[in-house]
Amino acid sequence: MTPTKTAPQNDLPEVYIDDILMTLKYFTDEHEVHLKIIDPQVCMNCESKPCVQFCPVGAYRTQDGGTVQIAFQSCVECGTCRVLCPNSNISWKLPRGGYGVAYKFG
Ligand code: SF4
Ligand code: SF4
Repeated sequence: MTPTKTAPQNDLPEVYIDDILMTLKYFTDEHEVHLKIIDPQVCMNCESKPCVQFCPVGAYRTQDGGTVQIAFQSCVECGTCRVLCPNSNISWKLPRGGYGVAYKFG
């Protein structure tokens, strides 16, 4: 079946998340991680692992054995994982001053 085109809802330009992510700069703090899993065992028992789906940059990855690893270097500090982990199993804080993501357009 041929996909149907829908009429544009407004005059806003199309936005591609990958293009936006390319404009970001990251200043990774390798000495003080700003988010981490509190108890890996809790993740092993978390069947749906929603963090893998809801993180906009895919920082959460499932590992063999059912634990979860966070690529904190790519975090854009949206705070979603801070509030949506159903088990409150993520320790989250803003990076220290001078570290973290820098948004080109504010
Ligand atoms: S949603 Fe929370 S408890 Fe579940 S796997 Fe992710 S970090 Fe672990
Ligand atoms: S704060 Fe946002 S970008 Fe960073 S790890 Fe959590 S969900 Fe992903």
